[in-house]
Amino acid sequence: MKKFQIPEQFKSSFTGKVKQWRKQNDSRKKDFAPSVIPIGERLWIFPRHMGFCYGVENAIEIAFKAVEENQGKRVFLLGEMIHNPAVNQDLLSMGVQFIMDTAGNRLMDWNELNSEDVVITPAFGTTIEIEQQLREKGVDVKRYNTTCPFVEKVWKRSGEIGQDGYTIIIHGKYKHEETRATFSHSNQYSKSIVIRNLEEAEMLAKYIDGSLDIEQFYVDFKGKYSEGFDPSKDLKKIGVVNQTTMLATETEEISKYLKGIVIKAHGDASFADTRDTLCYATNDNQDAAMELLKTDADVAFVIGGHNSSNTYQLAIILSEKIKTFFIESENDLDDLGVNYLNLKTMSQERCSWNDAWKNWKEIVVASGASCPDTLVDQVVEKLCQITNTELNQEKVLAEWMK
Ligand code: SF4
Repeated sequence: MKKFQIPEQFKSSFTGKVKQWRKQNDSRKKDFAPSVIPIGERLWIFPRHMGFCYGVENAIEIAFKAVEENQGKRVFLLGEMIHNPAVNQDLLSMGVQFIMDTAGNRLMDWNELNSEDVVITPAFGTTIEIEQQLREKGVDVKRYNTTCPFVEKVWKRSGEIGQDGYTIIIHGKYKHEETRATFSHSNQYSKSIVIRNLEEAEMLAKYIDGSLDIEQFYVDFKGKYSEGFDPSKDLKKIGVVNQTTMLATETEEISKYLKGIVIKAHGDASFADTRDTLCYATNDNQDAAMELLKTDADVAFVIGGHNSSNTYQLAIILSEKIKTFFIESENDLDDLGVNYLNLKTMSQERCSWNDAWKNWKEIVVASGASCPDTLVDQVVEKLCQITNTELNQEKVLAEWMK
């Protein structure tokens, strides 16, 4: 796989070396067992796969190059480049400005843009409509396009099955940038609809087999389907693709479920297979997180932007068995407790240690695909302080790599 130029501030002296060592010793990625590293009296457990994926490294390389190559020009990002506050903050501090927020709300007037401006498309990609608006302003939309090739693969496959007459069911979060972009692209070829989870798939099934009145469809899926969508005609041939950072097992479950429903109602040719669109990094990170459930870990810290879909899925997986805190950086930790995102309410909460840390024997530290390894290092250092653990990185790594 291609190697990218990552800025110095994201290069890690600890986690990066752990990952590198595992990679050297398992280049074919056959071993998903975690890296278990003794530090002080405790075991520290890191998943086999975590941190920056191909798409994120690609986006970072292009974005930093865009700034370097365009000194004196205005450089804009269509929205957050990736869902990590530290990385986005770095770009902001270099003078990059955001055109939209994560929900797609404009932060500036479109008319302020001109052909001299540089606009970077984030790793999630963007909609055809936004690209067209940029072109109308004379902006070169291709030059600094960081759309991940694995997202483009989903668009390509959607286009192929759309041209064959299949309606595209997108498993994703309707407001997420990537899902909005995928919807826009698939909608070019075929009617499309976004569903969030298995519950919504079950609801959709009732319109596929005709057991619910179609008028109710427009209420149940309001704002999530193509213009002119007619459930009595547009659900006879379907294919399922996903927002690449959703739970891969959930996409597979939805796909299998809807396949059974549509084939029963409309015959064997009514379902298009799209299993080849699942992103390798999401699969690897989620499979590696599953392996962590086999350990006896007492606590897990999952690091990433709280709006990061892939990090959220990792936290969900770990929380099945381990007390899990979804944090953004070491700033969420202090001697008395932790500020974290409650995975059910999606609100910030605080947990006081009350000396609970004294009982921790095994600690998991994991991170999402948009989290720099340097942030993981900082969290490990802070946790070592909190648990009164001396950390000599070189010595620890030398012992572990023996
Ligand atoms: S998670 Fe997958 S699709 Fe998303 S940016 Fe990374 S490699 Fe690309």
